[in-house]
Amino acid sequence: MSNELKAARKPRTLAEPFRIKMVEPLKMTDEKYRLEKLKEAGYNTFLLNSEDVYIDFLTDSGTGAMSDRQWAGIMMGDESYAGARSWLRLEQVVKEMTGMPYVLPTHQGRAAERILYGILGGKDKVFLSNTHFDTTRANIEFTGARAFDLMSPENTDPKTDLPFKGNIDLNQLKEKINEYGADAIAAVVMTVTNNSSGGQPVSMENVRAVREICNQYGIMLVLDGCRIAENSYFIRHREEGYKDVSYKAIAKEMFDMADAFVMSAKKDGLANMGGLLVLRDEALSRKCINMLIISEGFTTYGGLSGRDMEALAAGLEEVFDDGYLHYRIKSTAYLGEGLRAKGVPVVWPIGGHAVYIDAGELYSEIPKDEYPGQALVCDLYVSGGVRSVEVGSVMFGKYDESGKLITAPRELVRLAIPRRVYTQSHVDYVLDVFDDILANRNRTRGLKITYEPPFLRHFTSRFEWL
Ligand SMILES: *Cc1c(COP(=O)(O)O)cnc(C)c1O
Repeated sequence: MSNELKAARKPRTLAEPFRIKMVEPLKMTDEKYRLEKLKEAGYNTFLLNSEDVYIDFLTDSGTGAMSDRQWAGIMMGDESYAGARSWLRLEQVVKEMTGMPYVLPTHQGRAAERILYGILGGKDKVFLSNTHFDTTRANIEFTGARAFDLMSPENTDPKTDLPFKGNIDLNQLKEKINEYGADAIAAVVMTVTNNSSGGQPVSMENVRAVREICNQYGIMLVLDGCRIAENSYFIRHREEGYKDVSYKAIAKEMFDMADAFVMSAKKDGLANMGGLLVLRDEALSRKCINMLIISEGFTTYGGLSGRDMEALAAGLEEVFDDGYLHYRIKSTAYLGEGLRAKGVPVVWPIGGHAVYIDAGELYSEIPKDEYPGQALVCDLYVSGGVRSVEVGSVMFGKYDESGKLITAPRELVRLAIPRRVYTQSHVDYVLDVFDDILANRNRTRGLKITYEPPFLRHFTSRFEWL
C-alpha cells in the first residue's frame, strides 16, 4: 500500500482476534431487581450470585475464556497417576519458556508460594519485593518471616505518567539489605506485572539491576510472574531496544535472570485453575518436591488433573501470540482511557489487567470512614449490573487501640478484565454506565459496616447505607 493511502487511513476499531463458537447466555436484570439483590448481599458484591451480575470485573483470576485448542486438550487429558502424557507436554512447554530444569505443578499460585516460602522463610528471615501480592505476604508472614514492599513515591503516585511504575526502588532495596544483613534476606521477589500497584509493568533494566545487587550479596531472586506475557508487551513497546524482540524472547530474558519462578496459571496461563513452581537449583527442588508430595500430589500432576495440564500447556503458548497480547493490553487501555476522557479519575497509566478508579476523588464528598470506594462499587452494580471490588479502606483499613478506623492511603475501585471474555460492546456498555454514575454523583454519605470478621474482612463483611 502506498504511503499516501496509509496516511489517510483513520485508526480502526480495536477488533477482537477471535470469533465466538460457543456462547454463555447472561441474565438481563433491571435496577429494581439489582437493588434487592445487593441489599440481600449486605452491600458486598462478593456475596452476590454470579448469575445476577451482567459484567463481572471482580477479578481476572481464573475467569478467562479458553480457546478451541484448549478445550480439545481437555478431551485429550491423560489422567494417569504417574508420567502422564499431559504432564510431559506441560513440563516441556514450561522448560522451554523458562529455561529452568525443575517444574512442579500445583493447584494454584498460592500452593507454589506456600511450598517455596515455607522452605525459604522462617523467623528472622526477611523478604524484599516491589510489592508482595496478598497471598505472597500471607504465606511469608505465616512462616514468621517479614515482608517489605519497596516502591518509590513517584511510582505509587496515581498521577505520574511513567512507563514502568511496577519497578522496585533500588536504593530502598540496598538499604534494607544493609539494615538486616544479606544472610537474613531469604529472597527478593519481583512481582511481574506488579498486581497490587495496579498491574503496572516492571522494566528489564530494573530486573537486571536487581540481579546485580542479588549477585553482589548472594541473594536469591524469585519471579512472581503470573502476568509475565503482559509485562513483555509493555517492555517491547516502552523500553529501548526491544521493539523487534518477540514477547517469548523478552520473557525468556527475564527468566534467565531469576533463580525461581512462581505462577498462578489462572492469569497468563489462560487456564481456569492451576499453578507452577519452577526452579533452577536441584537441592532446593528436592526439598520442594517433598512438600509437593505431602500436600499437593505426586510430582507429575501436583494438584492438577491431566486435562488441566493440557489446557495450561496450550494456554502458555497462546498467551505470547502477537495478536492476542495487542488486543489484551489495548482493550484494557480502551476502558481506562475512555473513563479518563469522561473525567473519571483513574490510576495512570493504565496497567495490563485492570483499571483502577480513584473513588476518593470521584466521591470526594463522602468521608473516608464511610467508604467512598464501596459506595461506587454499589452504584456500579445497581446502575449497570457491573461487579467490581473496593481496594481501599474496606480492604486495607485497620483500627487503632481506641477502635478508630485508620484509613488506607487511597480509596480505589478495581475493574479487573477477564481474558478473552467480553467484547468491545460490553466495554462500551460499561462506559455508558459511568455516564449515569457521573450524572447522579450527589452522594454525601457512604456506608457503615454492620458485620465484619477479624481477618480479610472485605470478603464477608456486610454494610448499610448511612
Ligand atoms: C493471583 C496471584 C497470586 C496467587 O495465585 P492464586 O492462583 O490465586 O493462588 C500470586 N501472586 C500474584 C501476583 C497474583 O496475581
